[in-house]
Amino acid sequence: MLLMKRTIVFMALVFIVIGCTSEPNEVAEQEQFTSQQQIQQENQVFTSERNKSEGKWDSEKNGRKEKTAEEEEEEESEVEASYELNENIWITPIDNANEKVLLLTIDDTPHQYSMEMADTLKELGVRAIFFVNGDLIQSEEGKEKIKQLDEMGFEIGNHTMSHVNLNEISAEEQRAEIKELNALIEEITGQQPRFFRAPYGKNTDISKEVVQEEGMQWMNWSYGYDYFTEYREASALEEVMVNAPELTDGGNLLLHDREWTNKALKNIVTRLQDKGYQFVDPHDIR
Ligand SMILES: [Zn+2]
Repeated sequence: MLLMKRTIVFMALVFIVIGCTSEPNEVAEQEQFTSQQQIQQENQVFTSERNKSEGKWDSEKNGRKEKTAEEEEEEESEVEASYELNENIWITPIDNANEKVLLLTIDDTPHQYSMEMADTLKELGVRAIFFVNGDLIQSEEGKEKIKQLDEMGFEIGNHTMSHVNLNEISAEEQRAEIKELNALIEEITGQQPRFFRAPYGKNTDISKEVVQEEGMQWMNWSYGYDYFTEYREASALEEVMVNAPELTDGGNLLLHDREWTNKALKNIVTRLQDKGYQFVDPHDIR
């Protein structure tokens, strides 16, 4: 026993000596390696947490109790799927991820219908990005909504503080529009948004610069209709969203926090699913 203790002490000393004499480069590399490992481990934890919650959604939806090994495997590969944002619009698969996908984005949130829309999506097991307007989260109620959306697993995006056309304000004002909202959202959710959408899709050189500085990506959309007068009615909106000529793989769908959109949401999603489309979890976009 004593001999063992001595051996351990000796071994420890040897390690310390070796550690001290190794090149700074190696140490740095080791540190890097460790932090990469940590990131991987953290990702695994995150993935398994998500697995749990997604599994819960599934079983709630289908009333299943047990999942077969095959289903577990299928779910695993779904979670590992990853995507990238292409040309600031399209969602394209990395490696073998399914390409018949769409991304749902909801702008001008959280106004009147966001929470109901979130409940509908949760029921359907579908995730989306909620692009937030800063002036809608000045109140405690607004803040609470964002917190809930984040906790429900939706991605929270930046849609500027006051929904201005960025082309019409100064460089300094543009910076403030984006950065102040980032700080506010981070205060509420603990995380800075990863995506930015300019009001009316009007990005500027300055806004692109700020977005890059803040480590975000900006995105426009491939189609949306709920702001056109003739589609401010649920069934018309449903039809056009499901049969739009712009509907293609990797499409980025724009919706808003509006009464008719809220009403049409469930059918839009299920009918697109019936067409074979899967909705991307924004967290899977790199
Ligand atoms: Zn907007």
